[in-house]
Amino acid sequence: MSPNLKLALDILCYSGMVSQLGTVKIASGTGPRYMINLALMATEKAFDTSKTADAISRLSVTDYREFSSSDSQIQTYLSSLLLPSETCSICSAPLPQNAKFCSECGNKIIATSIVSTLLEESIDGLSVSDRLKDRVRPKFPTVGSIVQAKRNELMKIPYIKDVRSRIIKNAADEFISG
Ligand SMILES: [Zn+2]
Repeated sequence: MSPNLKLALDILCYSGMVSQLGTVKIASGTGPRYMINLALMATEKAFDTSKTADAISRLSVTDYREFSSSDSQIQTYLSSLLLPSETCSICSAPLPQNAKFCSECGNKIIATSIVSTLLEESIDGLSVSDRLKDRVRPKFPTVGSIVQAKRNELMKIPYIKDVRSRIIKNAADEFISG
């Protein structure tokens, strides 16, 4: 079995969509045998009938026997797994799906959807003094604008120098990394 197919099957097993049930004799020897979760089979068949009992009786093992690495659906699934889902925010290297770290620069990756929501939040949520927020807010109203701002840009604000610019940057980083 190819490593990619094994990976795909492991993921399906982990998600409960299939389970490994012993082994089966095939031409080249013995291979692992997988069973599709019965509920999935019932669900799929239930689409074209309103009666569940009818759907169950319509189940056939042969429907699900063809399941090989040449299956076009597996190929589609695998290529979607291998497609980079996004790029690193630091070095723009393509990232595999669900990557925790960038393999090029080691940047810690946080799920985009959550982060983009947090980046749009007002700086009111940052754990810094209200006075500091008031100074920063006119030019940098959102957490995202703080994250993207360079330290020297923050230091153009009156009374914000080395220490306070670092405090506000750290607070924004902490805010998005939870
Ligand atoms: Zn990177």
